[in-house]
Amino acid sequence: MRTPLVAGNWKMYKTNQEAVELVSGLASLLKGLGGVEVAVCPPFTSLADVSRLLEELGSSVALGAQNVYPRSEGAFTGEISPPMLKALGVKYVIVGHSERREILGEKDDFVAAKVRAVLDEGMTPILCVGETLEEREAGGALGKVEGQLDADLANVKLEEASALVVAYEPIWAIGTGKTATPADAQEMNSFIRRRLAAMFGESTVESVRVLYGGSVKPDNAAELMAMPDIDGALVGGASLKAEDFAAIVRAAS
Ligand code: PEP
Repeated sequence: MRTPLVAGNWKMYKTNQEAVELVSGLASLLKGLGGVEVAVCPPFTSLADVSRLLEELGSSVALGAQNVYPRSEGAFTGEISPPMLKALGVKYVIVGHSERREILGEKDDFVAAKVRAVLDEGMTPILCVGETLEEREAGGALGKVEGQLDADLANVKLEEASALVVAYEPIWAIGTGKTATPADAQEMNSFIRRRLAAMFGESTVESVRVLYGGSVKPDNAAELMAMPDIDGALVGGASLKAEDFAAIVRAAS
């Protein structure tokens, strides 16, 4: 049985003060809730304070980062390294988010290097994959995602694969209010699991969590989470309000 993971991607929202307020509200709403793992991914500027606060509160909410640079140190102005994240208590790192692929032009080989760098530091990548609307309408959704999995996970060793987290995030559903139907999301998540099984072996992949992301809200979370191959959610907009995010977590627990 896989424990579902619900991760909040705060994107470029929340000042440090606002981040601290959000996480303290969230920690109290989620206190004592079992059967689900929860992570928050604040902007880099708030990781230290959010980490300290979660520790002080004795919260089980895990800390995630939204990005990383795939080198441990060096002359890379403006970038953040895996050891820097690890030292703050970061457990999960979002890699390959479509906003970075589409807006910042990140390619699969760079994403693959980030996956490797995150694993090397003992953290867990949340690898985002997904198709555009044009690709879906042209019947190319499965092929697009298969290509991303093959390329982005090319440097992962067999024995590391069981700890991976993959998030299926159809680009047309992110921040748009349009959600994939539970059946469509299930179809893709099941395809992702089968592809991972072909790459890493059936038994290794049993424990891999495959999340869904794309306009997950309190009112659609339960039907998505009820699908057998949806092991949680990566939540953007709805993770910015403690009550909404807590309702999604409850739906997954
Ligand atoms: C995301 O940014 O990963 C995401 C799924 O955003 P939203 O929930 O706002 O669609």
